[in-house]
Amino acid sequence: MIRLTHIDKRFGRSEVLRRVSVSAREGSVTALIGPSGAGKSTLLRCVNLLEIPDAGELVLGEEVVHFGSHPPGREAIRRVRRQTGMVFQNFQLFPHRTALGNVMEGLLVVQRWPQEKARAHAFELLDKVGLADKARSWPAQLSGGQQQRVAIARALASAPRVLLCDEPTSALDPELALEVVEVLTDLARDGTTMIIATHDLRLAAQVAGEVVVLEAGEVIESGPATALFNNPRHERTQRFIATLGHAHPSAGIGTISQRAS
Ligand code: ADP
Ligand code: MG
Repeated sequence: MIRLTHIDKRFGRSEVLRRVSVSAREGSVTALIGPSGAGKSTLLRCVNLLEIPDAGELVLGEEVVHFGSHPPGREAIRRVRRQTGMVFQNFQLFPHRTALGNVMEGLLVVQRWPQEKARAHAFELLDKVGLADKARSWPAQLSGGQQQRVAIARALASAPRVLLCDEPTSALDPELALEVVEVLTDLARDGTTMIIATHDLRLAAQVAGEVVVLEAGEVIESGPATALFNNPRHERTQRFIATLGHAHPSAGIGTISQRAS
């Protein structure tokens, strides 16, 4: 279980998140959608404590962290980070490591696994994202979609409780985005818990069971994906979905259906 309760986050004078509460069951996929600047990335970064909220509470498995008068200690931050994996819009692979080296890195450095065990596990993960044959390739030799799949394998290496994805398809052409959507769909079927910030509605509709709509730092609507996309209650959600549907006709707003689960 992952639960954020009444999270406030300010940067200087600007209130970026206001009393935001979101919870996700183990094995569920939650999409955070909403206009640019809504606070989606900041909220994801509050889950792995790359940002420390000013108020509220985070529950991540056994870990309970309160924010407010004193910031969480380094040990608490480390325990939370170890339970999360993060995938970024622009992949952020190590350019001087092969695909395999990228996936092994955390296992060797953070988990201190022996080389052979790390190599074998990294191969399995690359196989899981369909890239066993690219293990020896350098990031520059891979397409954007392949690089993002390596980044997903790398994020999974430490067996995180939750995979956090920040706009995982946004830097990709549609057909490359599709291969990443397919990998995330497979992970969802396997029960990987994910929180995905995205304005790719095709991704949200295909992969997420739950959707949270953020606007200007507040949750304006949340609920099961099928209901929310087909029958949004909030007028601002309708408007947001309509804008994106127009910009990306392939999102097929009228025909969005939840993945068969
Ligand atoms: P989204 O991911 O929904 O586009 P963000 O979480 O990136 O939104 O940003 C929400 C707001 O917080 C924006 O107004 C952004 O400019 C601001 N913001 C994000 N990070 C910082 C930061 N490190 N310092 C100051 N302002 C920030
Ligand atoms: Mg963002």
